[in-house]
Amino acid sequence: MKQKALLYKGKAKSVFRTDVKGQFIVEFRDDITAFDGGKKDVLKNKGSYNAGVSAFLFEYLEKNGVATHFVSMLDPRRMVVRELVMIPLEVIVRNVAAGSIVRNYPFKEGTKLSPPIIVIDYKDDSRHDPMLNDELIVALKLATAKELAEIKKIALKINALLVKLMAAQGITLVDFKIEFGRSKKTICLGDEISMDSMRLWDKKTNESLDKDVYRFEKGDVMATYNRVAKRITTKATGASPKKPAAKVPAKPVKKPATTKTAAKKAPVKAKVTAKKPVAAKAAPKKAPVKVVARKPVKKPAKKPSAKTR
Ligand code: C5P
Repeated sequence: MKQKALLYKGKAKSVFRTDVKGQFIVEFRDDITAFDGGKKDVLKNKGSYNAGVSAFLFEYLEKNGVATHFVSMLDPRRMVVRELVMIPLEVIVRNVAAGSIVRNYPFKEGTKLSPPIIVIDYKDDSRHDPMLNDELIVALKLATAKELAEIKKIALKINALLVKLMAAQGITLVDFKIEFGRSKKTICLGDEISMDSMRLWDKKTNESLDKDVYRFEKGDVMATYNRVAKRITTKATGASPKKPAAKVPAKPVKKPATTKTAAKKAPVKAKVTAKKPVAAKAAPKKAPVKVVARKPVKKPAKKPSAKTR
């Protein structure tokens, strides 16, 4: 596959055309930003950690019946994806109150949100991604009511699958943001799922294992990304801390070009062909991550309302 012209450059990823019809290359760059781009840095190898975790999670979701844009990895930071017509929505699923929901509403950080709360923002940096409701989404023709129902259903399915996967690794999935696109009539998961787009807490210590380490300078960001990438991509059942992990496919892995057939592919293990663990290559030299004390996740005193406006 040949990489062609740059199609889109976001804050941390670039999308390129290719010589294959209907397929793009997404490059995960080492750029990291927070607070609407107000804080920016370049962190060596960050792109490959996020690409590796995204690839692993996309394969896991596909295996469990979620259509995604993932096709294969070209190298540790470049992912081949199916072309989607992106829907400009940021779909956020929250299992525990943290971040903006705590800043904007009277939730106490750490409160368990059960059932999970879905919040949908309009993906528009110039407007600071304002929160939408169903009526606005339909009136703005961003998605039909039917598509919106489908998006929410898929988002909750993804949440249940990710909660389970993370729990097996001793990680609480606090919240995450996903984006969807259309592949013909099919709603497909696009973009990425990585430490940049999830909020992850260690179940025992409640230590942050995600971009909050960068946002709030809680410790060594790359040491955290390295460790969490290993944890997420290590098969949970083994429970052996010595087991190699976080493998990124070293060679392109050919996959079918349709979401329908892609969903039927072999299990993650069979696809992963890397020689080295994702993290091993870029293991930071020092600085243990500072453990920031946080109260354990608590059940709410009363059931929180799903209406967060
Ligand atoms: O900041 P907030 O609490 O609303 O973020 C909720 C979740 O969505 C966090 O995991 C955050 O990393 C993710 N997010 C994202 N991209 C955005 C906004 C939020 O990945 N533009």
